[in-house]
Amino acid sequence: MLDKRLIEADASKLDELRDIMAHQEHPEKLHDIAMKAVLIEHGAVEKLTDCVRSLTSGKKVLMVTGPTLIQNTHEQNVKEAVYAQLQKSFDVEWLVISEPNSIVHCTPENAAKIQARLEGVDCVVGVGSGTICDLNKYATYTANHENPLPLIIVQTALSVNAFSDNSSVMLFSGVKRTVHSRYPTILIVDIDIVTAAPAEMNVSGYGDLIATWTAPVDWYLGNVIGMGSGNFHTAPSDMIRTQCERLLENSEKLAAGDPKVIGDLANVLTLSGFSMGLADESSPASGSEHVMSHLIDMSSGVRKTGICYHGTQVAVSGIISCILWDYLLKEFDPKSVDLDKCYPTLEEMEPRVKAAFGWLDDTGAAAKECWSDYQKKLNKWHAHKEEFKAFLDNFDEFKAQVAGWVKDPAYIADCMHKANAPCRYKDLNFPVPADTVRWAITNCHLMRNRFSIIDLLHFTGVWSDEFVQMVLDRAEALDAGL
Ligand SMILES: [Zn+2]
Repeated sequence: MLDKRLIEADASKLDELRDIMAHQEHPEKLHDIAMKAVLIEHGAVEKLTDCVRSLTSGKKVLMVTGPTLIQNTHEQNVKEAVYAQLQKSFDVEWLVISEPNSIVHCTPENAAKIQARLEGVDCVVGVGSGTICDLNKYATYTANHENPLPLIIVQTALSVNAFSDNSSVMLFSGVKRTVHSRYPTILIVDIDIVTAAPAEMNVSGYGDLIATWTAPVDWYLGNVIGMGSGNFHTAPSDMIRTQCERLLENSEKLAAGDPKVIGDLANVLTLSGFSMGLADESSPASGSEHVMSHLIDMSSGVRKTGICYHGTQVAVSGIISCILWDYLLKEFDPKSVDLDKCYPTLEEMEPRVKAAFGWLDDTGAAAKECWSDYQKKLNKWHAHKEEFKAFLDNFDEFKAQVAGWVKDPAYIADCMHKANAPCRYKDLNFPVPADTVRWAITNCHLMRNRFSIIDLLHFTGVWSDEFVQMVLDRAEALDAGL
C-alpha cells in the first residue's frame, strides 16, 4: 500500500514532506530538499520583503530578470511591482539579462553577467521563468559552492518543473547539459501571476509532467541492468504519480484556465522538481522523451530558429516514448536477443556518434562533447553484462513491476488533445521539420551517458530507421508525431 501522505504531498509543507521521506524505506537514499520555504498561493509575491528579511539582515538585493513584460491577473507589471516593493526596504540593483533577438539562453556567458554584480550583495531575487531561474541557481552556485548567496525565485509561469530542484540545464558549446547547482532558498509561486502567464506556458508545465509516464521507468530500467547511479528509489515518483493522473483527468479544465487546476499544476510541478532533488539527479523526470527534445534544441542554432517551449516539446516526444514503452512491454521478445551481438565496440561507435552530431557546428565541439559522454555509457554497458542477462531472463518480473508506471499512448495523446497541448512537432511554437525530428529520435541515445529504453532497443538490434518509421506511423494514428 502506498503511503497516503506521500501520494497527496503538498509542496508548500516542507517540514511535513521531510517527515514523510524519513518514514519511507531506505530514507538514507533520499536526499534533503535544501530549501527554506515554498509559497504557492494567491498574492504570494506580497510576502517577498518578509522572505528577504528572513534570509538576511543585509540591505543589498540584486534583482535579476529577463527582458519581457510580465503581468499578473490584475494587469499589473510584475517586475515593476517587485522592484517597487523591494526598494521600500532595500538597496536594490535590477539586472536585466538580454540577448540581441530577445530569447535568453542558459549559457555560462549569461551567468557571468550575474556573477559580475554579486560583490557586496546580501540576497539575489530572480523574477522570471525557467531560464532566469536556472541562470540564477547556476551563477550563485558556481560563484560560491560552499556557501551560495540566499536566492529567492519569483516564478512567473508554470512552464517547467525545474524551479524546485538543485540543478540547471545549461548550454555548453551549444550542447544542453544538466549540471548540479543549488535550490532556490525560497520559491514564490503566486497564483495571480502564473494564471496570467500565456496559456502555452502553463501547457508547457503540463507537458513536462508527461515525462512522469516514461522517465521513472527509464530510471528503473537503468537501475535494474546496472546502468544507473545507485540512487533509485520508488518514493520520488510515487509522490507525484497519483496527482499527475488527476491532472490528466482534468486536461479539459486546464485548457479552460480553471484556477483550481492551475493550483494543482503548480503543486505537482514543484513536487516533480523535488523528485529530482530527492534522487539527487534528474532521472525521475528526464528520460528518453527529454533527450529527444534536447537534440531538437541542439539543432535549433543550425536551423536558425528559436527554442520551443521545453515542456510542450517534451510532451510531443513523450507520446513517442510512451509508444516505445508500449512496444517493449507488449511485443519485445527477450528470447530473440543474441547476447553476443549486443556489445558494439568503442571503435564501432565513435564514428557513428561523430557522424550524428558533426553537422551541428564547424569545430566538431558538439560531437566531441557527446562522444565523451557516450563512451562512458558504452564502457559501463560492457561492464554490466551479467545484469543485462538477468534482466532478459526475468523480463516478466520487470514487466509486472512497471505495469502501473506507464500509460497507454492513446490515452496520453487523448489527454493532450483535450488540454490543447500540441501533439505534433510541426505544431510547436517553432515548427520542427520532419527530417530534424527523424534525426533527433534516431540519434538521441548517442548524446549522453544516461541509459534509456532507446539504448536497450539499440543494443538489442531493434532500433533502426524502419523501426523509427513504425513508431512515427503509430503516433500518426493518434493524430500525433511529425
Ligand atoms: Zn523537463
